[in-house]
Amino acid sequence: MISIAIDGPAGAGKSTLSRKAAERLGFIYVDTGALYRAVGLKFSESGYDGALDCDIDGVLKSTSVDIRFINGEQRVFLDGSDVSDKIRTPSASKMASAVSAKPQVRAFLLDMQRRLARENNVVMDGRDIGTVVLPDATVKIFLTASAEARAERRYKELCEKGIETDYQSVYNDMVQRDYDDSHRAAAPLKKAEDAVLADTTECDHEQSLELILKIINERTGAAD
Ligand code: C5P
Repeated sequence: MISIAIDGPAGAGKSTLSRKAAERLGFIYVDTGALYRAVGLKFSESGYDGALDCDIDGVLKSTSVDIRFINGEQRVFLDGSDVSDKIRTPSASKMASAVSAKPQVRAFLLDMQRRLARENNVVMDGRDIGTVVLPDATVKIFLTASAEARAERRYKELCEKGIETDYQSVYNDMVQRDYDDSHRAAAPLKKAEDAVLADTTECDHEQSLELILKIINERTGAAD
């Protein structure tokens, strides 16, 4: 099986580019952030805030997270309900970051991610795919862009979805989330030593996609 690991900070364009790259390659696209978002939703719906002052193992015992591919598109199910749209709000982003710092939550989601890569050719994106989840991935890419460019893209995306927000709070939330993700003890966001760095600050969407496909192709020949 071929696995393409794409890691990087929030708003670097990982999900859109990974989805497009997977389409071109005929692979499945696995958005691992959605799994953390679903677990975050479970904790908020159980009445907990980001401090997560609770019996984490107890909550996880009564939690099921599942990914299904419907018409080639990943949908995420929490305790049997499709929560794919509900997990996209700024508060869900913060809660995902909070739960993702907990080793028990990371362990809870690890097997599913590895199984998907064992059974399918995948493009998988996240924060620790190249470092922890798939250390032997065929290709590892660390996708990044300046904080301003990333915040600008995320702000536009939220506006297009009709989610009310302003640029400055998107920027502040993003910088805070990157800091938290990079400084946590459990599987922090960092470039794997053997990952290729792709900086898309100066690239538009098409150029970024070409850049990713070129990196993949040079190493696998799969995007020919
Ligand atoms: O990628 P996305 O922004 O949807 O991820 C939401 C949050 O989930 C991230 O800020 C990060 O804290 C966490 N995450 C993670 N490891 C992954 C994917 C996401 O810790 N592999």
